[in-house]
Formats: sequence, structure tokens, C-alpha cells
Amino acid sequence: MTEFPPQGLFRRWPLLGVTLDDSEDLRLKKAVMTITSTSIALLAIFWGSFYIYNGYLLSGAIPLGYTVISFSSTLYFFKTKRFGFFCASQQWLILLLPFLLMWSLGGFANGSAVVIWAFFAPLAAVFFIDLKAATRWMLAFLILLVISAVFDLTFAAQARPMPDVLNTIFFLLNLGCGLILIAVMLHYFVKDRESAYMQLQQSEMHIRELMLIDPLTGIANRRHLDDRLSMEMDRLARYGQHLSIILIDIDWFKNVNDTYGHAMGDAVLKAFAHHLSAGFRTSDFVSRYGGEEFVVLLPNTAIEEAAALAERIREATKHIRIAQSEMRITASFGVTAARTGETMAEVLSRADEAMYQSKSHGRDRVSMLLE
Ligand code: GH3
Ligand code: MG
Ligand code: MG
Repeated sequence: MTEFPPQGLFRRWPLLGVTLDDSEDLRLKKAVMTITSTSIALLAIFWGSFYIYNGYLLSGAIPLGYTVISFSSTLYFFKTKRFGFFCASQQWLILLLPFLLMWSLGGFANGSAVVIWAFFAPLAAVFFIDLKAATRWMLAFLILLVISAVFDLTFAAQARPMPDVLNTIFFLLNLGCGLILIAVMLHYFVKDRESAYMQLQQSEMHIRELMLIDPLTGIANRRHLDDRLSMEMDRLARYGQHLSIILIDIDWFKNVNDTYGHAMGDAVLKAFAHHLSAGFRTSDFVSRYGGEEFVVLLPNTAIEEAAALAERIREATKHIRIAQSEMRITASFGVTAARTGETMAEVLSRADEAMYQSKSHGRDRVSMLLE
């Protein structure tokens, strides 16, 4: 999961008001809120100067006053860490600013650009705060719009008309800021959803792994084998190709545990599982059937071919090195092929029977059973 803002950033720049104990979500909110309010306050200095330069003293004083109050609120937040109060004060300040400006300019005729914020502001509020606060804010916005309309009817006629070019610049400025705000919000919103989705996917994968993988050896477990075998039997019924099954049991395994200890027994199981996984094709399915028994499924493989593969794996089993010791193991193999129409239990029991033939004929060998 990507971290926002990066931890190094608040060590170097603690002004974001974020502490390392904050949750990821709160860090995001604090950082975005602080950066946004600071950016608006800095922009207000520009707006104020712009109006004063053009001779609108009152309209220039309003954004400058806003900057002073906004910075005070931010400093108060850094001192007290009261984030809720900071959010509320910033919301109402940001809400009032365009209206005060519009009124000082003589109403809609001179300051209609603020109406843009009627679209942007509630969207931003939903993202930064919550739906309830955003609704309250939206309502306040509408009330202020009505007041503005009344104000317009009564006082606008006396207003000093602002040159069209200033009106246009002001409109574009507001539009640009609004669009940047929405773009930043959407960026973090999408990033947030993406990381939440990735986390969900990761935990799903983890759960699947817990369900289907044998924790000791890391290969498929009995449940996974059942799923896969049932799928392969369905496929066999439909397409009628070969499906061979090899059941393998490590010889004298109890002796390993008794002589070398259980930990060595576990090491043998791991090494043998690795040996099987490396020995078969990736299209074959290697699983731990239980204790020291393993089952391999070989789709599209005739029984003779499966027996030849088993023979090769059996021969190589003698050379497996276990935990740098001199100990060597052997295993007994039972090979069979699934027939259409029979059950999974029937196939597995025939493979088991074949494996027992290997045991009774002296172990360390491969037996094949067709019927
Ligand atoms: P055979 O050649 O007839 O197969 O002899 P064996 O000793 O291998 O046969 P048996 O089935 O009697 O022994 C299986 C042993 O496997 C018994 C059990 O203690 C051991 N075992 C089963 N699961 C595990 C495991 O996860 N770890 C360890 N270390 N031992 C296990
Ligand atoms: Mg056994
Ligand atoms: Mg055994």
C-alpha cells in the first residue's frame, strides 16, 4: 500500500499537523486539508492584491482578511491538534469568502464567478468531511445564494460596474482553482480506492492460500486435490482424454521420526515435496494427500507414460539431500488411470492399492494397476 503523505515528509515538515500515531485515513485528510487551506489562503493574497491594484479597495481587503484568519486557524490547529475545529472553521471561511467578495463587488453582475463554487464546494466537502457535513454546507450555500439574489435586486444598481475583462479573469481564475481542486480530490479518491481494493485482493489471496496450500510443504493440500481431481474427472467425462494418477508414500517414514526426531521428519517432507514439484511438469498437479503420502495428477498423460515418469522420480529420490545430513530416503509409487464414469474415491483407492503392491513387493518401486 502506498503511503500518503510519505512518512519522511512529516518528519521534515511537521506543519501538516499529522502525527505518526494517526491512521492512514486521518493522515490523508489532515495533509490534504492543510495543503488545500494553505493554498487557498496564499491564492487569496493574490486575489486581494489583484483587486486593490485595480482600485477595488474593499474587495481587496476581504481576501487579505481571509488569509489572516485562515492562517490563524491553521496555527491554532498545529498548537492544539484540534482537527475537527480546524475543518469546521476552514469550511465556513471558504464558504463565506466568495460571497463576501461578490457582495463587495456589487452582486451577481460583478461577481457571478463565485457561483462556480456551488458545484465544486459540496463535492470537495463530501471528500474531505462527510456526506452530512457536505449537505449542511450545501444548504448554507443555497441560503447565501438567495440572500445574494435579494441583495442584487436592492443594491446592485448602485454598484460600480466592473470592467468585463476583470470579470472574465476572475471567472477563469475561479474555474481553474475549482478544476484543480476536483482533479486533486479525484486523484486521491481513486488512489484510496485502488489501495483498498488491492488490500482486499491480497487478503482474498491469503485466505485462498490458507484454504488450499499445505503450510508445511507449501504445495497443494487435500482440499485442493479434491477440487482439482473433481474438475479433471469432469473434463475426462467430456473430452475423454487420459488422466493418470500417482500415489506416493515415503518408505519407513516412522523410523525417520523415531531415529532423527520430528523436526527431521518435517525436513524430509519438505524436501520430498520440493523434489516432486521440481520433477513433474507444471501442467501436472502435485499435492500432499496426508502425513507422508502425496498424490500427483497428470492430465493428458497415458498410464505407461505416467509410470515411466514415476520411475524416474523414484530413482532420483535416493539422491535427495536432507538438511545436509547423510540420511537417504526411498518411496513407493502406485500408478493408475481414471476411467470415465467412476468416482474420485474409486480412482484414489485403486492408486492406493497399486502403492500397497509396491510396499508388499519390497518398497522403493513403482506398481501400475489398470483395473
Ligand atoms: P511404510 O514404509 O510402510 O510406509 O512405513 P512408514 O513408517 O512410512 O508408515 P506409517 O504410515 O506407519 O508412518 C507414517 C508416519 O508419518 C506416522 C506419523 O508419525 C508420520 N507423520 C505424519 N504426518 C507427519 C508430519 O507432518 N510430520 C512428521 N514429522 N511426521 C509425520
Ligand atoms: Mg503412510
Ligand atoms: Mg510410509
